[in-house]
Amino acid sequence: MELINDKNCHWINSLDTRSNIKTLNKDKFCEWLIVGAGYTGLSAARKLSELHPNQKIIIIDAQLAGEGASGRNSGYLVDTTLNDGFTSNKELSNYKKKTDIYKLGIDIVKKFIEEYQVDCDWNESGKYFASSNQKDRKILENFSKTLLKLNFEHTILEKDELGKRLGTNFYNLALYTKGGILLHPGKLVKAMIDTLPVNVELLEKSQLNEWSKNSDTVICKFNNYKIITKKIIFCTNGFLKSLGIKNNYNFPLTLTASMTRPLTDTEYKSIGEPREWGVLPVRPMGATIRMTKDKRILIRNTAEVHNPFKMSKSNLDKRSFNQKLGIKKRFPTLPEDIIESSWSGIVSRTRNSSQIFEKIDDNIFVAGCYNGSGIGVGTLFGEQIAIKASNENSDEINIIESRSKPTWLPPQPFLNIGVKTRLMFERFRSRSDV
Ligand SMILES: Cc1cc2nc3c(=O)[nH]c(=O)nc-3n(C[C@H](O)[C@H](O)[C@H](O)COP(=O)(O)OP(=O)(O)OC[C@H]3O[C@@H](n4cnc5c(N)ncnc54)[C@H](O)[C@@H]3O)c2cc1C
Repeated sequence: MELINDKNCHWINSLDTRSNIKTLNKDKFCEWLIVGAGYTGLSAARKLSELHPNQKIIIIDAQLAGEGASGRNSGYLVDTTLNDGFTSNKELSNYKKKTDIYKLGIDIVKKFIEEYQVDCDWNESGKYFASSNQKDRKILENFSKTLLKLNFEHTILEKDELGKRLGTNFYNLALYTKGGILLHPGKLVKAMIDTLPVNVELLEKSQLNEWSKNSDTVICKFNNYKIITKKIIFCTNGFLKSLGIKNNYNFPLTLTASMTRPLTDTEYKSIGEPREWGVLPVRPMGATIRMTKDKRILIRNTAEVHNPFKMSKSNLDKRSFNQKLGIKKRFPTLPEDIIESSWSGIVSRTRNSSQIFEKIDDNIFVAGCYNGSGIGVGTLFGEQIAIKASNENSDEINIIESRSKPTWLPPQPFLNIGVKTRLMFERFRSRSDV
């Protein structure tokens, strides 16, 4: 099946159009093949080029580089997460391991943008875990205790203060964490593409259909040509399962988001001229909502089992309509039809919200499954899987490998039934905050 993205994502459409797109136009041989050119693959390519300056490295993508989830996410570079969906962060030491990985993720993105002087609208604004439902107070108080033990600076805020900071009276309470960065995800991934080292060949619009291992090489078949590689790193995230990788450990979810046009000065004044902010939901299926640097409102309030290869326009329109309602109930004074773009994107999940980072066979490596933390963790895992695949070690790899490993998932149709039921249940529990 061919992977077809909608062309609606505001983040991507706000970038300069890329030229010089190269596709696979003949059979090739290389030492290293990276499949997937999002944060993970691009970061792996950069590291491999440093470790093996004289070897042939190819990075290949089914669509244009960076135009998967990496260019179409909500732009939260997180230091902490409250809910990862399917399990709660009950154990302190496991939660600490998770946040240690987030910290390494923030550090590596920060190092990249400083080294290459990248403008990606970086804003160390912190973030809010907010709810309209007083019943969520207990969850936030418990979360606060966890953050206190791990020395994360944070405050619990009430309705009045939130109204001033966010420009909406919708939320009754929130936990604000000082850490966490808001950025323009498209600008970040485009910078990673633009700064690819010269010994990395980027091939786009070339979808890997089949791969097989043949003694000490891997044979990869695309539409008309093939690539034979000595080592391969799979960085296709939501499309790992469709390539038969770690089948019983990950599954894709489709997310949709909408973004308004910039608010006019009058509209912006009418909501109190709040500074740029980002809200994450207290319950897993509530809305992520953000005021951007250029005064647009972004909303993401779906996560569902759907065909990851394509979403039809009518399906996208239905989700966009619900997002219009989500904006309306938070900002009742704003006009109704201010949504300018709606798009979908694919994330990859594991049962216990842990990430995949491993050697799956001689010369075959994979990194992925970051849920809503792929900006930092994907960039980190890309770099570190390149180091691991080069038979080297690092302190970061030791930290990554000490996390809980992904747990086994039941086969189809039980998996889809289980995930759909769970999502429905979570959506019901989050219904006031969708
Ligand atoms: C709407 C939305 C909001 C999100 N919000 C956030 C957020 O605020 N913060 C955060 O940290 N994360 C967020 N995420 C998640 C984040 O975007 C991902 O975790 C991250 O982009 C993963 O990066 P990646 O490089 O591993 O995968 P991707 O960016 O998905 O890249 C994988 C690439 O593989 C390519 N590919 C797939 N199959 C093939 C094939 N057969 N052959 C060749 N190429 C193939 C795809 O075209 C794609 O470009 C969000 C995601 C979505 C969709």
